[in-house]
Amino acid sequence: MMSWESNVRRVNPYVPGEQPKIADVIKLNTNEFPYLPTPKIREAVADMGLDIMRLYPNCTAEPLVEALGARYGFHSDEIFVGVGSDDVLATAFLTFFYGDKPVLFPDITYSFYDVWCELYRIPYERPPLDENFLINKEDYYRENGGIVIANPNAPTAIAENAAWIEDILVHNPEVVVIVDEAYVDFGAESVLPLVRKYDNLLVVQTFSKSRALAGMRIGFAVGNPKLIKYLSDAKFSINSYTMNQAAIYYGIKAVEDEAYFKEMIGKVIATREWVKEELAEIGFMATDSKANFLFVTHQSVSAKEIFEYLKTKQIYVRHFDMPRINNYLRISIGTDEQMKTLLDVLRDYLKQ
Ligand SMILES: *Cc1c(COP(=O)(O)O)cnc(C)c1O
Repeated sequence: MMSWESNVRRVNPYVPGEQPKIADVIKLNTNEFPYLPTPKIREAVADMGLDIMRLYPNCTAEPLVEALGARYGFHSDEIFVGVGSDDVLATAFLTFFYGDKPVLFPDITYSFYDVWCELYRIPYERPPLDENFLINKEDYYRENGGIVIANPNAPTAIAENAAWIEDILVHNPEVVVIVDEAYVDFGAESVLPLVRKYDNLLVVQTFSKSRALAGMRIGFAVGNPKLIKYLSDAKFSINSYTMNQAAIYYGIKAVEDEAYFKEMIGKVIATREWVKEELAEIGFMATDSKANFLFVTHQSVSAKEIFEYLKTKQIYVRHFDMPRINNYLRISIGTDEQMKTLLDVLRDYLKQ
């Protein structure tokens, strides 16, 4: 070890799903949206021009914040935007989890949460999901330094309703409760209507999954103006200009095109339900997904084997080599055509 290494803030980083370089793969491993974003974004490309690239962007991304406010019914001081919801969540962990008591989130959930806790030296505990991968809400009725719930949860895809989340809020008025709604648009109930009722609730959403803009990096949080002010103070202490001009312009177009958004989400949900039935016929069990992916296990063949085989066929899905879920695969919902290929390949493989 070099002498300076004792001063290094070391951390085991989050490992994102692979972005394969080969052109023809079927990519079902990072829950991207399978269809293009709204064509209205083309107008934004033309509107923008080159001159705005010369200038720093609006530092609070106010035009995007206003578009979100109009869409979801909130004032600008109740909304915070960032470079994907990972940026928003990382800032929220840094800002709101500064005590000695452990922050609580499930043992099986988005695997970035423990990474941020490790990075910022936040104490945390992970109450286990039950044997059906459900969160036991009573585990969160005790002293703690904050709570994070992904709803729908990842990678289980299972969602609870707003009343269930509200029970957690009722029992935790003294800490910040973050609800990560990355997948909420695919059929779960949002807790945005509870924001004005609970001043300690921060709801986080993203444009990466349901708005087909993972590549533009846009995420946002909605909460009490005081929470938003604290978040914003932390952000302005690191990087004032987080959102680039293109992300602001494209984000506005995406939020404004509600009809396209609904239509495309409907397609993905229909595909999900169809694939789930087809998979059941060849021996897969899936959780009740309210997300744009299925979390499945096979009755006789190991997840790892299927994962490796699919890769040889240029089909990428996600396998987590972690306790309790290492016999499961997370399969993002692609286009009908991609899913048909996946099903054909699986039928063929499982026949042997
Ligand atoms: C994908 C995902 C995010 C982060 O997405 P961004 O692309 O950074 O907006 C956050 N939470 C969960 C549970 C996710 O699956």
